[in-house]
Amino acid sequence: MIDRRREIGYPVQCGELLPDIEEMHSIFPATAGLEELFDIDPSVVAGRSHVLEFISPRGRVYRIDFSSCSLDRRLFDKHLTKKAEEAGARLITGESLLAIDDDIAKTTMGEIRAKVIVGADGPNSLTAREAGLGRPRLSYPAITCKVEGQFDDSVKMFFGSVAPGGYAWIIPKKSGANVGLGYCSGMCKERPSAALERFVSTLGAKARDKTLGFVPMSGPLRSTVAGRTLLVGDAAGQVMASNGGGIPTAMIAGREAGEAIRNHLSNGGKLADYERRWRSLVGGPLKTSLRTRRLADIFFPSNTMLGFSMALLGKRGLDRAVRCKRLFL
Ligand SMILES: Cc1cc2nc3c(=O)[nH]c(=O)nc-3n(C[C@H](O)[C@H](O)[C@H](O)COP(=O)(O)OP(=O)(O)OC[C@H]3O[C@@H](n4cnc5c(N)ncnc54)[C@H](O)[C@@H]3O)c2cc1C
Repeated sequence: MIDRRREIGYPVQCGELLPDIEEMHSIFPATAGLEELFDIDPSVVAGRSHVLEFISPRGRVYRIDFSSCSLDRRLFDKHLTKKAEEAGARLITGESLLAIDDDIAKTTMGEIRAKVIVGADGPNSLTAREAGLGRPRLSYPAITCKVEGQFDDSVKMFFGSVAPGGYAWIIPKKSGANVGLGYCSGMCKERPSAALERFVSTLGAKARDKTLGFVPMSGPLRSTVAGRTLLVGDAAGQVMASNGGGIPTAMIAGREAGEAIRNHLSNGGKLADYERRWRSLVGGPLKTSLRTRRLADIFFPSNTMLGFSMALLGKRGLDRAVRCKRLFL
């Protein structure tokens, strides 16, 4: 594994929210072995919540039961790489992929010949481009920061002009919170940093360690395998478009990529099996989630319409939206 970051997991470009295992079962009912995959070490958990609050543009609050943890992602990513290293992988940091030429990955540390290449290089994946797999058609800017102070233990999502086309969040930790927002740049001309400062000031707090990232919002790429190259995570567009969450899907798909590669190298199985496997597990929820986002886009431009649609959906509909289920049965 090579990563251009000097330190894995840092800077943190994430809200750090991970649904608990029982929620994961309800979001991804077709995926077995979630317990093993999401056996999260307590040392990387920075807070817990059992309630999710949707806050409408006019301040109406819809509370749903939803259990999640706030990760310390700087530690969580290191924890994952440690597991991979224990299983035989080798990690080299501070080195970048530059180009791919058939079975040769050209990198800042020279050429690496590879039987299989996995692109887990995020929303602007160079691997995807080099393999001719394209890139997500739509990405939203999302910015996050740390805020000090005491927050109640509910995760809060604020909708409306605070983050047009997206939402602003407060994800509490034992101490302080991860505060951020993501929005559709076509609906808002304000710079992400200015929008975040404005939101944080309404909390009477100060933003520390701001980081900007991009979230693929147009669903998975049409194809995530080409020749000897596989894409995983944001590189493949495996993000729940209705809430921007991508950690669970990246991990589920990552495990499937590992299985398909093992089968390819030891039994001559097809790498293209990866495509079929991950879509059968998370493809359905990702599709429903994308449909929800597209429907929401109709209401997002107007605070009144958005408030009205949230009232129409009510707690039950919002609960279904967050779990990537069809809004109406
Ligand atoms: C502000 C923000 C908040 C978010 N909040 C949440 C949340 O609360 N919960 C959730 O589930 N998801 C959230 N997401 C989405 C989540 O962060 C991603 O879906 C998840 O990190 C996907 O992981 P990944 O490994 O595919 O990509 P990334 O985490 O982006 O990792 C890609 C890695 O590839 C490396 N890399 C890139 N290009 C190269 C290159 N050329 N050579 C070498 N290395 C390279 C990078 O250094 C990086 O380490 C959020 C995203 C943003 C931007």
